[in-house]
Amino acid sequence: MQPGFEPNSNVAELEHLKRAYATQRDAYNAAPFAGEALRRERLEKLRTLLLTHTDEIATAISADFGHRSPHETRSLEVFPSLAGISHALSHLKRWMRVRRRGVSIWFWPASNHVIPQPLGVVGIIVPWNYPLFLAVGPLTVALAAGNRAVIKISEFTPRFGETFRQLVAKYFSEDEVTVVNGGVEVAQVFASQPWDHLLFTGSTSVGKHVMRAAADNLTPVTLELGGKSPTIVHGDYPIDTAAQRILFGKCLNAGQTCVAPDYVLVQEGKEEAFVAAAKAVVARWYPNMASNPDYSRVVNGRHLERLQGYLRDAESKGARVVPLADCDPASGKLAPTLVLGATNEMTVMQDEIFGPVMPVLGYKTLDDAIKLVNDRPRPLALYYFDNDNTRIRKMVSSTISGGVGINETVVHVGQDDLPFGGVGPSGMGHYHGHEGFETFSKMKPVFAQSRLNGLWLMHPPYGKRFERLIKFMMR
Ligand code: NAD
Repeated sequence: MQPGFEPNSNVAELEHLKRAYATQRDAYNAAPFAGEALRRERLEKLRTLLLTHTDEIATAISADFGHRSPHETRSLEVFPSLAGISHALSHLKRWMRVRRRGVSIWFWPASNHVIPQPLGVVGIIVPWNYPLFLAVGPLTVALAAGNRAVIKISEFTPRFGETFRQLVAKYFSEDEVTVVNGGVEVAQVFASQPWDHLLFTGSTSVGKHVMRAAADNLTPVTLELGGKSPTIVHGDYPIDTAAQRILFGKCLNAGQTCVAPDYVLVQEGKEEAFVAAAKAVVARWYPNMASNPDYSRVVNGRHLERLQGYLRDAESKGARVVPLADCDPASGKLAPTLVLGATNEMTVMQDEIFGPVMPVLGYKTLDDAIKLVNDRPRPLALYYFDNDNTRIRKMVSSTISGGVGINETVVHVGQDDLPFGGVGPSGMGHYHGHEGFETFSKMKPVFAQSRLNGLWLMHPPYGKRFERLIKFMMR
């Protein structure tokens, strides 16, 4: 801990959680439907908070990481958060519109509508890697949908958690939005509250605990989880461009990104060309890696040790470990490092890496590469580098993943008009943009009977009239 910073005790955070839940529930019961003007006002407050306090937020996150590039906090957390708010503001009217739906001829002249309705009080659980964006992204769509929200920040980012708690309290009343900090004990109690919806971002293993806790209340969940995102480079694609774009996605936040490329498949014989291209990119981007402010630290000693363990394990089982730069381990940074000759027996090919380590494997045919991907759990992202549209279509339709990037990595997450979410072990449900609005709304179907209608013809007693009619209807 840095001097002068003492997080609140779990007891204090648990009290805050219970009070916040009760306050928001009462406020919701008193005013269950937030109109468009109120939703806009809340989104505008969130925007002002971000624009006014960017530096404080970046400083707090950097303190939690030991060092996190403030440029990356702006480009990967503050900017996409603001873009999401602007997108919600410009589409809010349309999203909130009551949708007219068709009526079967047998029920004419009744009418059908779908009315988006706020769910109520929602919970948002946030991981440490992008603590701002992964709190504000879900919050934006939750507020756009007219909800109240309680947010739980990770115990690994306590300084950000405290800064964000204070900022949210400055702009929002506790019955609108509030932030809870504290350890895993608090997170467990948080997941067991009877939220109207719970959005969890974090690891697949903790996601299972969250879903179990939510099941006791039948709380619907959106689970934004992790996994090993494969990256496939076709032999015809320029290897230098591929290396640059893959390294971009891998080096951001020192690889601590849920959609970072996890392992790379290149056509057999291209491995060394990829290594050379990757080395050149890193030398250009990060001279003096250890002291370079553009390259972030691994969040803590435990995660650094975990990543170094993957490298030791791979080396001891015969892989070649290639650091792409010199970096003094005392700096708390780990240089981007490739692993050649990795096999399924190595932990680096079993666990989600979540750091700047990247196995590079050779494949013979594209079908072999597709099979390798499909033999593994469904990933959060898949990246494919190729300029041939037929092969691109084949790759997209033969594999299943949370999302796909063609000839680029990571930035699909920042497309506000695309839904974001995993599939199977990488998650369930979607948010961002319109899909996020629907996730946090009850899309309520309403059937309205007409004053004059023929349904009385179907009423009992069931005699000849009923028989003739049902026969006609069932033709
Ligand atoms: P984590 O699963 O360890 O923790 C996430 C959050 O869950 C934290 O706030 C933590 O306090 C809380 N938590 C811990 N135990 C809990 C429990 N038993 N019940 C309820 N909550 C609990 O994940 P992490 O280490 O913070 O983040 C890294 C993981 O998150 C990686 O797997 C990464 O891929 C994933 N991730 C996914 C996305 C996405 O959008 N899909 C984004 C970022 C990170």
